[in-house]
Amino acid sequence: MKTTCCRICGHAELLPILDLGDMPLANRFLRPERADEPEPRFPLRLTLCPWCGGVQLDEEVPREVLFDDYVYVSGTSDAVHRHAAWLAESTTQRYGLGADDLVVEAASNDGTVLKTFRWHGVRTLGVEPAANVAEVAREEGIDTRVAYFDERVGDELAREVGPVKLFVARHVLAHVQDLNGFVAGMAKLLASDGVGIIECPHLVPFYERLEFDTIYHEHLCYFSLGVLRTLFGRHGLHVHDAQPVAMHGGSLVVHVSRPGACHPVSSRVREILEQEEELHLRKMPAWRAFADRVTRVRQEVPAFLDRLRAEGRTVAGYGAPAKGNTLLCACGVGPDRLPFTVDRSPAKQGLLTPGSRIPIRPPEALLAERPDVCLLLAWNFADEIMQQQQAYTDAGGTFALPLPTPTLLDAETPAPARLAS
Ligand code: ZN
Repeated sequence: MKTTCCRICGHAELLPILDLGDMPLANRFLRPERADEPEPRFPLRLTLCPWCGGVQLDEEVPREVLFDDYVYVSGTSDAVHRHAAWLAESTTQRYGLGADDLVVEAASNDGTVLKTFRWHGVRTLGVEPAANVAEVAREEGIDTRVAYFDERVGDELAREVGPVKLFVARHVLAHVQDLNGFVAGMAKLLASDGVGIIECPHLVPFYERLEFDTIYHEHLCYFSLGVLRTLFGRHGLHVHDAQPVAMHGGSLVVHVSRPGACHPVSSRVREILEQEEELHLRKMPAWRAFADRVTRVRQEVPAFLDRLRAEGRTVAGYGAPAKGNTLLCACGVGPDRLPFTVDRSPAKQGLLTPGSRIPIRPPEALLAERPDVCLLLAWNFADEIMQQQQAYTDAGGTFALPLPTPTLLDAETPAPARLAS
């Protein structure tokens, strides 16, 4: 369904930035016996709101289609667990949370983050739309309500459990169709001195590092801090801090409160806003340049793989993340160029990637097959993967990054600074 209005400010015109054409759903992995069946495809276009600068898709795939045949995977990454522990410790200390306080998390998943808050003695409540996932959290002792968080749920919870001291929403805002309803619910739920912790991928690394592969149908919005300020401001909330973190290719942890709560505004907020202004992220010319760079890398990736093959080198992939599927489909990479990829998640092993139909095997296949080059489709976990797969590099294998330009991470090419987390 095409959307013509901005999800942040309601402006009725969205300007096209990048059109990736009709694309399959990035989390609809295929069983091999269904490889010959056509897949549902939907337009994937990135647009800019000329009024508020909101970068967003202009297409919405209905939830029931999006989550049909969805391969759910709980947090398999050590980095995610470390990050959750840091978030819980730093926020409980900073805001002085104790046994009387309640933390509510929207899209709480299997309770990974809330568990770490409980270690610090804070009461927790999760809100998670997937019933089977909520059940996993409950089995771990994390009280979880099955719902999409929105204005109604925020209102209900405020009445049932009272205003809360801390509201957490990690990597969910980009998925929300009714953004203003979500933030209105958050505003209703927060106590007068409450704080909202919102984590989402940041538009600056998305732009600078050409992370166009993170564009897929589930990610409706791509946020700058400036646009987040506009969004929260519409609901009487303000941003008093923002911390850049390495998670998912570069994210922001944004701290939101009521202006009367007297949290001083951190200098980091101004620094990040200035950085965004310097890149002109609210203006079309910057996005035309971005689209040109994407066009170039869509040719470079297949050319890189063809060159390796011409040199007699074998190639495989690492990871089968949703973002890998945008990259593979947008660059025309199929099993002829990438015979297989490996993934730690048993739920994905044995399946084919959507659109590109590349077989997914367990990580052990990397040592068994010993491809000369391994393309990091899950580049956001590059450090962790390369540490885990030391035996592969010791045996002569070389990792490669696809973006912002395909690069071999061999002895002559030091890993880019982005890999340092
Ligand atoms: Zn707008």
